[in-house]
Amino acid sequence: MSEKSTYRIACPKCGHEQSVELYDSINIKDDPSLKEALLKNQINNVSCGGCGFNFRVDKQLAYSDPVGRFIVFWYPADEAACDRDEDRFLDAIAEITRGLPEDVLAPSVHLVFTRTELIERIFMREAGLDERIIEYIKYTMYARNVKRLDPATKALLFNAHDSNDTLLAFVVQDVKTRKFEAVLHYDRKGYDALKETFSDEEKAFDLYEFFPGPHISARQNLLRELRAEAGHETEDGAE
Ligand SMILES: [Zn+2]
Repeated sequence: MSEKSTYRIACPKCGHEQSVELYDSINIKDDPSLKEALLKNQINNVSCGGCGFNFRVDKQLAYSDPVGRFIVFWYPADEAACDRDEDRFLDAIAEITRGLPEDVLAPSVHLVFTRTELIERIFMREAGLDERIIEYIKYTMYARNVKRLDPATKALLFNAHDSNDTLLAFVVQDVKTRKFEAVLHYDRKGYDALKETFSDEEKAFDLYEFFPGPHISARQNLLRELRAEAGHETEDGAE
């Protein structure tokens, strides 16, 4: 079931306050039209009663696909707060799954911090692609294009629309301006080969360890590595 609650929202333009109903969760089996609305950027949109300004309220939203057996939690957060929020989220998930009977096969649970990531994850899942392998591919793409693809300023997004049986498409998005700047392709055979490689139990475990989740993101891993490196440098400097 999709759920809504009432929120008191102030217009970012004129400050007018009003009570609005916003979605806390959408279930696309019960309400397939909500998926279309999400893709069209029409979920949790508010029209200001004072000045008529239309704006989107970015709040926590659970996207549930019972048929595809996955749930994506969109938890809008500052990039700097991602690690902290990921820990909090893990605690919450542990709490929920503790309450589940043991014979219940828990659906795959994903955490994302932006709407773009949410849409990307939905398309990835629907294309039957493994998010850890896709993020692993992104990781290698960042490594190969260090100059063009600085993880601090550029996000790499899987683009289902331009992908096909032979090529997987990725778009480069500038994090600050949110503009799409380039399209990069990856041979689908490479994905299939990685899938084969990671079907090995030990290798699968390594991949899982590299992306333990719930926020599975090559960029996040790279930023963490960069922060760790910078931390070491500061420590060295203090010596
Ligand atoms: Zn207004």
